[in-house]
Amino acid sequence: MSNFVFPPAEIPSAAVRGTDARYAVSRIFCVGRNYADHAREMGADPTREPPFYFTKPATALTPSGSMVPYPSETQNYHYEMELVLAIGAPVFKVTPDAAVAAIWGYAAGLDMTRRDLQAVAKAAGRPWDTAKGFDQSAILGDIVRKSELGLLAKGAITLAVNGVEKQRGDLAEMIWNQAEIVSNLSHLYHLHPGDLIYTGTPAGVGAVVAGDVIVGRIEGLGEITLTIGPAE
Ligand code: MN
Repeated sequence: MSNFVFPPAEIPSAAVRGTDARYAVSRIFCVGRNYADHAREMGADPTREPPFYFTKPATALTPSGSMVPYPSETQNYHYEMELVLAIGAPVFKVTPDAAVAAIWGYAAGLDMTRRDLQAVAKAAGRPWDTAKGFDQSAILGDIVRKSELGLLAKGAITLAVNGVEKQRGDLAEMIWNQAEIVSNLSHLYHLHPGDLIYTGTPAGVGAVVAGDVIVGRIEGLGEITLTIGPAE
């Protein structure tokens, strides 16, 4: 046993449907602008430019069903409903076909965002960390194994706030599909079990306030919920 000056933090992990065993999370990658209609609403050109990424710390992971406080230092706190991939095999510089084989499971996710800080960062050419990688910013539903579901390549992805639909898209509308994303990312990083990939959001992102209840759904996968609490 190693000797630590402070006790190590708990390993971040996600529930896996149908088992008590948990999926230990080491890294969270996120794809930017992967649905054309969302790229347009953010003022970007949705032509097929190479995918780009940002990350959140694994400690930002927060289970579906939680209440999170309205975060500090923002006046424009946004939801982004996303399909999340859970990697289940080590891969490096793999083809899209080999990349698909490394996808072990799927989950519904919310990429919570301080949109005002992101706008400032974009304008100044600065990193997105405080806009994207803050505490409790990576909401995650239960992981469902791909061996149970099969390839989840199409199906409705929707989000409602207080029962009013705000986002509706289809997984088939991704600019870069899941095989291409994992393949592309595997050229930048050695991917391992424990790596999650948030695959981008369809159009309709918007702000929430304290008291709002978010419900997201992915056809064939399930639901994710989040309640926004008062500011800390
Ligand atoms: Mn996102």
